[in-house]
Amino acid sequence: MIKIINSEEFSYFLRINRNEIIKRWMNKSEVQNVLHRHSIPIIEKNTHLFYQFCDCFINVVEWRATVSDCQIKMDFLQLLNNYNVTVSDLFTLIIKLKNAIEQIIFEDGNLSFALQSEMDSLTLQMANDLASNFETITSNNCNYKSENSNLLTEYKKAVDLSNIVSKTNPKGVITYVNDKFCEISGYIREELIGQPHNIIRHPDMPREAFKDLWNTIKSKMSWNGVVTNMRKDGSSYIVDTTIVPILDIDGDVIEYMAIRHDITELEQTKQQLRNINKAMKNKVDELYLMTNTLEQKAYKDTLTGINNRENFEDIFTIEIANAKKHNLLLTLIIFDIDHFKLINDTYGHQAGDIILIDLTNLIADNIKKGDIFARWGGEEFVILTPSTDIIGASTLAEKLRKIVGSHTFNYVGKDVTISFGIAQFSSEDTKITLFEKADKLLYKAKKNGRNRVEI
Ligand code: GH3
Ligand code: MG
Ligand code: MG
Repeated sequence: MIKIINSEEFSYFLRINRNEIIKRWMNKSEVQNVLHRHSIPIIEKNTHLFYQFCDCFINVVEWRATVSDCQIKMDFLQLLNNYNVTVSDLFTLIIKLKNAIEQIIFEDGNLSFALQSEMDSLTLQMANDLASNFETITSNNCNYKSENSNLLTEYKKAVDLSNIVSKTNPKGVITYVNDKFCEISGYIREELIGQPHNIIRHPDMPREAFKDLWNTIKSKMSWNGVVTNMRKDGSSYIVDTTIVPILDIDGDVIEYMAIRHDITELEQTKQQLRNINKAMKNKVDELYLMTNTLEQKAYKDTLTGINNRENFEDIFTIEIANAKKHNLLLTLIIFDIDHFKLINDTYGHQAGDIILIDLTNLIADNIKKGDIFARWGGEEFVILTPSTDIIGASTLAEKLRKIVGSHTFNYVGKDVTISFGIAQFSSEDTKITLFEKADKLLYKAKKNGRNRVEI
C-alpha cells in the first residue's frame, strides 16, 4: 500500500530507518565510486560520514530547502569541504540514498509512501519517482507517523504499567520516573526528579555491587541484578533491575534507563524456604544424633559405656562358633568387685557409680584390642579373650587384679579389689557351660578370700 506523506512524516521515516538505510546505501557501487574518487575510505569507519550525508538529506527535507538553499547550510558546506566532494557528487549520493530508501519501501511493502508537493523540486521529483512505482492513494489515508506513535504510546503504557521505570542522565541524576516508581519508593515525582539516583540506595547494599553496576553501564553495556532499595520511610524493597545505557548517534551515553520488577515477596519466600531448609537440616541432624544415641544404647552399657550384656552375648555366640569351627583358643574371664555392697552403703550409690566407671576405664586401658570387655550386670564384668589359653588369661587377670588393687579410687582410695573366675573353652563347651565354669570359679575365688584369681 502506498501512502502519500508530507515532509515531516518523511523525515520521521528517515530518522527511524536511518540505520537500515545507511547499511544498504553504503553497499551501493555508485556510492562507493564517488567515495573512491575522493579517496574517502569505504569501510565501516565511514558510518559517521554516511550519517552526516543522511542528516543533510533529512535537513533538506525538514527545512523544505531548495537545492540551492542547501549550499548555504554550514554543516553541509563543511561536509563538502572536508571530503572535497562536489555539490554534484553529493546530489548523486542523495539520489542513490533515495534509491536505497525506495528499495526498503519496496521490500517492506506495507511501509510504502509518497511525498506531498510541499517539497522542493528535487525532493518532489523523488517523491514522484517513488509514487510512480506504486499505486497512488489519497493523502487522507496517510497516517504513518500517528500509527507509529500510537503504537509507541501503547507500548510505553504497557511497559509503565508492568515495570518500575526511571531514567537518569549520565551522571546518575534522575530525569524521569514513572508512577510505579513513585508508588514503590514512597516519594512523589517532584522529590525524585533532579536528585541523584542513590536517594533510594539501601545502606545494606554492598558498595562493590554498585561498583560493578557503574563499571558495566559506563562501558555501554546493560547491567542486570537484584538490588535492595530503600523507601522514603526507611523500609526496604527488592527489585530485579536492568539498566540500559542509551547511546546517541556517535555512540556516547546520553542517558540510562532502568527497568525494575518488584521481587520483594519472591525474595522473602526464598528466604523463608532457606530458613525452612535450615530448620529441616537441623532436625535431620538431631534425628541422626538420636538414632546414633539409640544405636549406642542398644549396644553399650549406659553407665560405663562398654559393651552391654546383650551385645556381649551376640559376640560370645560368634566367638564360640568360630573357636569350634577353626579349633581356636578362647578363654572367658569373669570378675566381680569385692564387697561392693559395703562401698555403696558407706559412700553412697553415686560414689559406687563413679567407682564402676573408673574401674571399667582402668580395665579397658589394660586389655588388648581384640579382647571383648562387657558389663554382665551390677558389679560383675566379663572379658572374652580370643586366641588366648588359660595361662595367658590368668596372667592378664593377675595383672588386672594388681592394677585395681593398687589404684587410688575416688572416695575409697585403694580399698577396691576384684575377684576372678577363668575358664578356657573346650570343644564340647557351649556358651552356657563355659559361662557356668567361669562363674563357679568366681564363686570359688570369693569363698577363698576374694581379691584372687581362680582357674
Ligand atoms: P561380694 O564380694 O560377695 O561380691 O560382695 P558384694 O557386696 O559385692 O556382693 P553383692 O552382689 O551382694 O552386692 C553387689 C552390689 O552392687 C549390690 C548392688 O547394690 C550394687 N550394684 C549393682 N549395680 C550397681 C550400680 O550400677 N551402681 C551401684 N552404685 N551399685 C550397684
Ligand atoms: Mg561383688
Ligand atoms: Mg556381684
